[in-house]
Amino acid sequence: MSVRVRFAPSPTGPLHIGGLRTALYNYLLAKQKGGAFVLRIEDTDQNRYVEGAEEYIQQALAWAGIPPDESPTHPGKFGPYRQSERLSVYGKYVNQLIEQGKAYYAFDSAEDLEKERQKAAETNAHFSYDCQTRMTMRNSLTLDSETVAKLLEEGASYVVRFKMEADRTLTIHDEVRQNVTVNTNTLDDKVLFKSDGMPTYHLANVVDDHLMEITDVIRGEEWLPSLPLHFLLYEAFGWNPPKFAHLPLILKPNGKGKLSKRDGEAGGFPVYPLEWSGIKGFKEDGYLPVPLLNFLALLGWSNKSDEEVLDLQEMIKAFSMDGIQKAGARFDVEKLRWFNQQHLQKMNDEALLKECVSGAPELQEVSKEHLIKALVLVKERLIFPADLNTEHGYFFSAPTAYDEKAVGKQWKEETPSLLESFMALAQSTSFEESALEECLKGFVGSKEIGLGKVMAPLRIALVGSLKGPSVYSLMAFLGKEEVVQRINRALSQIKS
Ligand code: GLU
Repeated sequence: MSVRVRFAPSPTGPLHIGGLRTALYNYLLAKQKGGAFVLRIEDTDQNRYVEGAEEYIQQALAWAGIPPDESPTHPGKFGPYRQSERLSVYGKYVNQLIEQGKAYYAFDSAEDLEKERQKAAETNAHFSYDCQTRMTMRNSLTLDSETVAKLLEEGASYVVRFKMEADRTLTIHDEVRQNVTVNTNTLDDKVLFKSDGMPTYHLANVVDDHLMEITDVIRGEEWLPSLPLHFLLYEAFGWNPPKFAHLPLILKPNGKGKLSKRDGEAGGFPVYPLEWSGIKGFKEDGYLPVPLLNFLALLGWSNKSDEEVLDLQEMIKAFSMDGIQKAGARFDVEKLRWFNQQHLQKMNDEALLKECVSGAPELQEVSKEHLIKALVLVKERLIFPADLNTEHGYFFSAPTAYDEKAVGKQWKEETPSLLESFMALAQSTSFEESALEECLKGFVGSKEIGLGKVMAPLRIALVGSLKGPSVYSLMAFLGKEEVVQRINRALSQIKS
């Protein structure tokens, strides 16, 4: 049987980094096994529906480069792929469970339930609709069949609850946690269906996974408490369950608790792939999709070979369910920046240049040849494509200000005359790296001074600060005329 996996978000907001990782692991397994990656939108909870969230999820997966093989907008033969369009499917299954005595109608009003909650709270207990309490409630287990039939005929509102077996110890296999053991006495009679025709998450999720022939359910750890119920639903329907894998949490940078949107705001990093109502995403902050996926792949999964920097094909090849860890994985934005930098270095110059220039209109006027030359000089230092213009803008325009700290330390009384004499000498060189190096070294040698005495002020004059590539390559890149101009400007503006 070929592998079929699904990513099943509820459109209640933007895709969070954890959701993107869940989608990625599903995608990697599907692609490795030549299977299908399905996107199913779980939108049965209309109260939590957020306009635009589904489109956002689809756009985020497309940007990340992990598009689904089957989805609402690209259906396969298991559609529809939005649960709100599948409402006619679920009634039959809920009726089957009722007929077999595995589920029952419950007519308790909201007030009745509230009363029970309050009663329990008086003794500091917690009310649970379960095998201990259900025989005291108003449902088709306690009412006679005529009353039930009458209520249904009158259109009384009801829910259908799963009749949880009493005192059974279940041991369920999870691909990440191995055996998960639970006693059914700790589980309540979950609502499966409501009289308005809406299934709940549990019913719709299990029925759809079955009908869509899903072989592996890979989802976040927060769904682990639902595993026993889902497992029992498969059993109740007489269906083979899929394999289950519950992924570890993504933790805050300090390792304490689950990563939240607020951690991103506090730490100055995104938690969404793309911008969402004014909050910037990874894309807008200059992260490229492949390094982001690479970072996420290793956030909870470890590669058997110690290779860290992987492109998508390499991730597909290396991925394995048994490499997924149980413990939460700490979000480390520095590591993400490192991945971005590593991947930029692996890109070919033309492709990287395209990224650098997009969003920097001022660079569009610079010749491609010139841009590539500059790029090559600082490629290893770029963390984000925009850095070429923001961090290394001195390639394309002369500095307008000089770093005061650097000036204070490196610009001495003798600096102007040294720079002038050096430039007089350098005028007659060919302005190629090696010739410039020879010239500067010869100059400081003849003066019997250290190299830094000229090199540091020279860099300040050309760059405005002490950063940048080697001074020789920078001078060769800028050319004689520009270098002379920048030095003259520095000499007139910097007072030692
Ligand atoms: N709709 C659930 C969610 O929002 C899906 C959980 C699952 O994958 O079973 O995450």
